[in-house]
Amino acid sequence: MTKEDKKPGRILDYNKKLPVLEVYTCIQSEGSRQGRPTVAIRTTGCTHRCWFGAGGWCDSWYTSIHPEKGIFTFNDIIKIYDENPEITEMMLTGGSPTMVPDLCNELTHFAHERGICITIETEGSHFI
Ligand code: SF4
Repeated sequence: MTKEDKKPGRILDYNKKLPVLEVYTCIQSEGSRQGRPTVAIRTTGCTHRCWFGAGGWCDSWYTSIHPEKGIFTFNDIIKIYDENPEITEMMLTGGSPTMVPDLCNELTHFAHERGICITIETEGSHFI
């Protein structure tokens, strides 16, 4: 373990299962990065309970209202980029990924080292 590994906010064990439920390649279909090949990473464990009025409840209950356990490790994320070197985009979504700050931090370091652009989806909202 190096000094860098001991810093707070880092993931120390790349073989440990993280609160990450999905890792897959896709084409970004939203926002300014639309149309670009992307790796989507979906966290789980969001404790918000978003209600969008006519849009209904959160559309990913399996990561929030009834969260499933994460099944991917950080090495799984590295692997998918190693297997798809043409992909230089990352969509980090959830399940509210900012509720997993160590993962956001580690992915930011990883993306910086690899020249990958990250899009982080933030929380939804409540209509009261
Ligand atoms: S923050 Fe996102 S994942 Fe969490 S309940 Fe709201 S819409 Fe669903």
